[in-house]
Amino acid sequence: MNRKNKILVSCGILLIVLSVAFKLFLDSVYRIPILMYHSIEYTPNKKDKITVSPDAFTRQMKFLHDRKYNVIPLEEAVSYIREKKRPPARTVAITFDDGYENNYKYAYPALKRYHMPATIFIITDKVGKNDFMDWGQINEMSASGIIDIESHTISHAWLKYIDDKKLKDELAGSKEVLEKMTGKKIKFICYPMGGYNEHVKSMAKDAGYEAGFATKPTRLAPSYDVYEIKRVRISPTADNLFVYWIKLSGYHAFFRALHEDSKKTDIVK
Ligand SMILES: [Zn+2]
Repeated sequence: MNRKNKILVSCGILLIVLSVAFKLFLDSVYRIPILMYHSIEYTPNKKDKITVSPDAFTRQMKFLHDRKYNVIPLEEAVSYIREKKRPPARTVAITFDDGYENNYKYAYPALKRYHMPATIFIITDKVGKNDFMDWGQINEMSASGIIDIESHTISHAWLKYIDDKKLKDELAGSKEVLEKMTGKKIKFICYPMGGYNEHVKSMAKDAGYEAGFATKPTRLAPSYDVYEIKRVRISPTADNLFVYWIKLSGYHAFFRALHEDSKKTDIVK
């Protein structure tokens, strides 16, 4: 082999090694994008970081539909995480926290129109009060086969700092009420305001939950722990479909963590 060929072969090997390393790196920071919505409402308050307008939400669902995203029920997303498997490209799951009535009024029609499965985490004590959905609306959606109803506790308590009796109540009590009212098995818990620790996770497991959902995606390490599944917050910045596309990539949590680390802040929301 002459010198030129040796250089070519060395470059080729280097390129292969770099590609494999890059692929391994991407796989290590990838997380299945589980979108986290809250209120879908028209609001003049631009400072509200968790309310998405109905028009923007409908555009986002159309985007997922037109770009042929693989929108899967939350249960399937949990299976991928539990089995440590990477889903097909452009796989996404959709969740809503709190159970606002505007989810029924604005999100549900768009989800139906574009055939998008989604999960809504309900605070049982809030059902039928103020801006929250009532049992009729919850059951209509649950029966549609499009919406999966799960628990967001009884009172939206900060689970890290309550005593065990109250913690058990919040976890098992909300599950019981939702199962009674919907006639379906409640499998998942969403920790209010991202408040959880190892004890909360083990109590959730004891209460019969199969997975628990968090709110803040700050950890860099890949997480296959189904009792602290991270999600991607959809805020009004995602009205811009380019931002939305980035949030759907599966790498958003990694870049966000880098950004947060550089600011040295602890985002709780
Ligand atoms: Zn909440």
